[in-house]
Amino acid sequence: MVRTTLTWTERFGVHDMGDWAIYVPPTGLVEPDTHIDNPKRTARLRRLIAKVGLDERLDVVSPRRATVDELTAVHSPEHVERMRAVSEEVGWGDAGGGFTPMNAESYDLALLSAGSVITCVERVLRGEAERAYAIGRRSGHHASRDTGYGFCIFNNVAAAARVAQRAGAERVAIVDIDAHHGNGTEAIFYDDPSVLTISLHEDRMFPIETGAADARGADGSNLNVNLAPGTGDAGYLYAVEHLVVPMLNAWKPDFLLVVAGVDASMYDPLSTLALTANGFAQVAERLIAVATEHCGGRVVFEQEGGYSPVYAPFCWLALLETLAEAPRSEDPFAPFLAGAGFTELAPHQRALVDDLVDQVL
Ligand code: ZN
Repeated sequence: MVRTTLTWTERFGVHDMGDWAIYVPPTGLVEPDTHIDNPKRTARLRRLIAKVGLDERLDVVSPRRATVDELTAVHSPEHVERMRAVSEEVGWGDAGGGFTPMNAESYDLALLSAGSVITCVERVLRGEAERAYAIGRRSGHHASRDTGYGFCIFNNVAAAARVAQRAGAERVAIVDIDAHHGNGTEAIFYDDPSVLTISLHEDRMFPIETGAADARGADGSNLNVNLAPGTGDAGYLYAVEHLVVPMLNAWKPDFLLVVAGVDASMYDPLSTLALTANGFAQVAERLIAVATEHCGGRVVFEQEGGYSPVYAPFCWLALLETLAEAPRSEDPFAPFLAGAGFTELAPHQRALVDDLVDQVL
């Protein structure tokens, strides 16, 4: 049995952003609802993990907080201090771009979320775990050096990558499977060829202005894979097998971080990529195989977007079960999705990936 760490604190299951409608404040014509970045999803995941008996296979540990020093390895000191002041002194504000509400608890939750990934990285590097999965709230991959954005306050995976490098990892690869472009992570490492950043995302979904295929970074150390609406399991897996895995094999990382957003799922309101839980498990298998081949097995998944309160927990569970080499639990939604047209590889999806393969490999 592979020794797998899971980081969790009950606080990840209660941090609430109030009555915004999806991500729009409830003013004018917009009636109050539940902000889409709400704690229901992570709380349900935690209960689901317990219900299927997966705790027995995991070392469940509390995350530590990231230090200011660890955050300023990837953020300006001014950004870190502004986030603290907005949250702790004002008690309500926005981390950046108008999409990123914060309340009095958000700064501390952001420290815990970055610390959650760092805790996982440290446990793997110390040999206390072979693999690890970091739950967090708040997400991080849209946060860049000087600002938060898109629900994100600090770039959790970027801070963790620097911690890994300080501890001796030389070539860190970050594969972002969240449905949205990992623009903050890309920007932080764009001129740094020691960190390979790969983002698979829906074409011009969010942010609309970033994520283009011609953004290649220093020495080709950045790759954006723009996927068409309705890509589905087969199209996504085609991109992973024909583009992402060959690129990782050529680059040979010694530590792998996976930005595990599941907002590419079939029932997610913030993308139209239409993956199933089984599709996520297959993607995870391929990425873990890369870590086994090149990284001495060292791989950390860190949780990001996923906005279907019903289905996201099943998709995250599929990733975690694959990581822990546990038997896969039933996906109660699979019978309703099997055989649907979007699960097949379409010619235009194949062509899109093949074009990129010709350009970058
Ligand atoms: Zn996302």
